[in-house]
Amino acid sequence: MADSPVPAADIFDKHLSSFARALTDTGPRPFYRPMAASGGEALVDGVRVVMTACNDYLGLSGDPRVTAAAAKALVEYGASCSGSRLVCGTLPLHEELEARLAAFLGCPAAIVTTTGFQANLAITPLLGKGDLVFSDMANHASLVDAIRLGSADKRLYRHSDMADLERQLATADPGAAKLIVTDGLFSMEGDLCRLPELTALARRHGARLVVDGAHDIGLMGAGGHGVAEYFGLPDAVDLYTGTLSKCFGSIGGVLAGPTDIIGYLRYTARPVIFTASMPPAAVGAALAALDIIESEPERRTRVLNLAERLDSGLRALGYDTGGPAPRTGPATVTPIVPVHVGDAELCARLWKEILDEGVFTHAVVAPAVPVGRALIRLSLQATHTDGHLDRILDAFTAAGRRLRLIAGTAATPQP
Ligand code: PMP
Repeated sequence: MADSPVPAADIFDKHLSSFARALTDTGPRPFYRPMAASGGEALVDGVRVVMTACNDYLGLSGDPRVTAAAAKALVEYGASCSGSRLVCGTLPLHEELEARLAAFLGCPAAIVTTTGFQANLAITPLLGKGDLVFSDMANHASLVDAIRLGSADKRLYRHSDMADLERQLATADPGAAKLIVTDGLFSMEGDLCRLPELTALARRHGARLVVDGAHDIGLMGAGGHGVAEYFGLPDAVDLYTGTLSKCFGSIGGVLAGPTDIIGYLRYTARPVIFTASMPPAAVGAALAALDIIESEPERRTRVLNLAERLDSGLRALGYDTGGPAPRTGPATVTPIVPVHVGDAELCARLWKEILDEGVFTHAVVAPAVPVGRALIRLSLQATHTDGHLDRILDAFTAAGRRLRLIAGTAATPQP
């Protein structure tokens, strides 16, 4: 008699059984909430709240000049190019945006991609067999995935730990081709990369440096050109990646660097070749946003000033807004302010209490941060008012006292 076959595990059941739902099954869910956001506020379940979870740092996504440019491109070129950049998805507008972004970043050439995530995946052709890639442990998921997709040997270094990176570079095969990849402004804790040390190490060890400027391009430095301008090191970065979904208020990605490397990626990067191009409306919006980024520096000053006031207000209340890298000196002021909580459940409770006070925040739990390092992430926008800032601090005061995270009780407010 034949052995009875082992019943196959159902692949859906198998994966669902290990899926962590803790934060989605208890009370109002922090994730996938439908909402309409504009001008630093959002309508959530019919209630108008202050929005602090959105990365529209310069408040450009709803700017009438940006939406008019998007509408014009939409009417002129249609809703989609329905094809890849390589074949039929390159409009004159894409080329105009590439030339403008290359000039903005001080690079000879640039290519735009459909999202920022894809811009990072597009570095994969540089990660060949026998190559070495050194990556900060706090890098964005899209850089992590680019490394997974590539064939290079990966070396992770502790977040912004330059001694760790140096040790790993010094013990690596001196003859191997090397790439260092880092976020410019780390997305969860709001700290800047240590660009001066990174570029010095890269030069000393013959490595190239890729910086993902998703959060800093448009924002950091007097002209908004990103971390290289901020640190006064215009030649520090060998290849930029970035997004148009944050400071540019649109959607899309960019890679900028030497002409030959950008040309190489145009023909080898699968996230460029095998996907439909950035839609016309998004290109039109990004071009209009770039005009504003170049002509209205006061937007950068405004959002950084708000962030500084929020950070000191939260510290005065007793919250921990420090990151793993020291947030001291001028480099600390970025529009991302983390409130460290630690425990994921407590973080979800604080998130809900703050929402009840009329402020929508971003509860950040693993895998976006390491287990045990849950935090509430606040990002500010140039369109936030002083009244919004007061409401955010009031919400943290009331919620923190109710949960006994800070001194005082809701019934006996502190002076
Ligand atoms: N890089 C970083 C550092 C990011 O934070 C993000 C998005 N949050 C991306 C890349 C991906 O950008 P996009 O949303 O445009 O795909």
